[in-house]
Amino acid sequence: MKVFVVNCGSSSIKYQLFSMATESVLAKGIVERVGQDGAKLTHTKGNGDRLQKQVEAPNHSAALALVVETLLDKDAGVLSSIGEIEGVGHRVVHGGEAISASTIIDQRVIDIIKDNARLAPLHNPANLSGIESAMAVIPHVPHVAVFDTAFLATLPPVAYRYAVPTEWYTEHHVRRYGFHGTSHRFVTQRAAEILGKSVDKVNLITVHLGNGCSMTAISGGKAVDHSMGMTPLEGLVMGTRSGDIDPAIVLYMQREGATAQEIDKTLNSRSGLLGLSGKLSDMRDLLEQVDAGDKNAELAVEVFVYRIVKYIGAYHAILPGLDAVILTGGIGENSLPVRRRICKALARLGAEGDNHRNEQTRGGKAGAITTDASRLAVWVVPTNEELMIARDTAALAGK
Ligand code: ADP
Repeated sequence: MKVFVVNCGSSSIKYQLFSMATESVLAKGIVERVGQDGAKLTHTKGNGDRLQKQVEAPNHSAALALVVETLLDKDAGVLSSIGEIEGVGHRVVHGGEAISASTIIDQRVIDIIKDNARLAPLHNPANLSGIESAMAVIPHVPHVAVFDTAFLATLPPVAYRYAVPTEWYTEHHVRRYGFHGTSHRFVTQRAAEILGKSVDKVNLITVHLGNGCSMTAISGGKAVDHSMGMTPLEGLVMGTRSGDIDPAIVLYMQREGATAQEIDKTLNSRSGLLGLSGKLSDMRDLLEQVDAGDKNAELAVEVFVYRIVKYIGAYHAILPGLDAVILTGGIGENSLPVRRRICKALARLGAEGDNHRNEQTRGGKAGAITTDASRLAVWVVPTNEELMIARDTAALAGK
């Protein structure tokens, strides 16, 4: 069975075509600068052959038509007919309270995505546009929506309610929803496999560290707390997002003359590692500056790690037990210095870092980075959100 996975952002479309028998990637790619001048398609076949070209992509629909054309191309392509695709999986950011699992897209699901657009104004409309465009070019097969929020639907009220007037929740839907759920679900399943436990018995703290960063407390395989909130701004320090701040800072900065729009942009795009370092949001670049003796870069990395360790301490306290802390995402999977700092800072909770194991789990390999004697196990488990979407799509489309 071949499954096509689409991740449609406001100005880009990422895609992967899977062969589900072997869970291998037949082709993947991205169309960037959709709706702008200078759109570009990068398409890579499973054998590594890569095609890159400037394209005309005035909207998502034109971009997807190009992708399908490329999949069918006699040189760059990997399909002889579009009919070979038996299901299409879509990443959708916000399912609100109505969605707790992946689901075949029908009018009800489309209405839910539209309804939740006010909670995710940048993401849901783009996701929906991707769905509508893909349904037009790949008709007659099930299209499945896999929501970022779904895995966090098991959060109990004690974790998802904010201590604000009840009407904010009942009338304005103000609560913690959480994001990155597909990644947290994937690594939870994978960690259970590696630890030799059934998923419903596993207690974990899963830490996704990419450009966006989030942490989930997992009890018996279910999410019971999560660091992102009503929006992806809350929680850990991220590449350009602040994570937790005193909410009164927003009001204070407004009184100082900043507009709501400026503050929104500052907290989402000019804060986090970028804000603290003054110039860099990418962990690789930042670590180079740390090595070169840059004090602001050092502070940025310290605050980043400190916030992670503080949250791990909090989640440790609320879980009934803890099998392992799981690190994933670009930084979790690749950044040896950040992993080393996290293990060191977790010493009081019983973590004993193992530098040799840290080296061995370089470049996308799963494994422990603490010693066997460590009272707290820290593992690296690479995530694969696209594969999770493909699996859900295959399961639902195959029915
Ligand atoms: P996204 O959240 O956009 O999917 P990724 O999961 O790819 O992002 O993570 C991006 C982050 O991972 C960046 O901060 C980048 O510097 C970091 N990263 C990727 N590779 C490495 C590496 N080899 N060493 C350190 N950091 C890395």
